[in-house]
Amino acid sequence: MSSTWLTAICLSDSMDPELKKSAEAARGFMPLDEGEALHDAAVASAGNVAGAPFLEIGTYCGKSSVYLGAAAREAGRILITVDHHRGSEENQPGWEWHESDLVDPEIGAIDTLGNFRHTMYRAGLEDVVVAVVGDSPTVASWWTTPVAFLFIDGGHGEDPADTDFRCWTPQVASGGTLAIHDVFADPADGGRPPYERIYLPAIESGLFEDVSATGSLRVLRRL
Ligand code: SAH
Ligand code: MG
Repeated sequence: MSSTWLTAICLSDSMDPELKKSAEAARGFMPLDEGEALHDAAVASAGNVAGAPFLEIGTYCGKSSVYLGAAAREAGRILITVDHHRGSEENQPGWEWHESDLVDPEIGAIDTLGNFRHTMYRAGLEDVVVAVVGDSPTVASWWTTPVAFLFIDGGHGEDPADTDFRCWTPQVASGGTLAIHDVFADPADGGRPPYERIYLPAIESGLFEDVSATGSLRVLRRL
């Protein structure tokens, strides 16, 4: 039995059960097995990069932020989570991933910020999760801090995927981890941009290598 295998088993048991319940109860798009893999990868990344924070692009209502916030607490780090909270193209009315009760009736636009705050409060993670509300490339233009762990789960169109790849992947510290959600190598399974515009360019850059895949979650290591 290899020690890597043993470590993986121990880690996947390590998430606080109360936080796991909070994550499952939260609204959003993160299946339990992928969320646990995300948590485990974030905890492990802290062992490879001293001191640096975790960063998430694409908060929505905070479901993945609970898995990553739990990891941040265990690792003694913080999670910064970036979203303009107006939804991606695929969350807008008429699209497959629209949830009409998230529309602010006064302005007619999606607003997931209140729901996210509710999730963090209920999970007791407000001390380790910091929300940054803004457009991803605008926030990136002022971001200079290397991160131990980067999770990209923002807009899934070609342009937003290109932008998130270009803006954020250079911020992963050497030895740090890049996780990408909704990566479908087979077009029959889902949309292409996270695979074609983030995952493949990361591998082809020669700067990242594959570590693991769980469902549509890919975990890579920065060389
Ligand atoms: N990680 C979440 C799901 C994220 S959905 C979960 O676990 O449930 C994708 C999110 O990306 C949406 O909330 C959307 O508002 C955000 N997003 C899309 N394009 C963005 C941009 N340009 N800047 C900031 N956030 C963006
Ligand atoms: Mg996703």
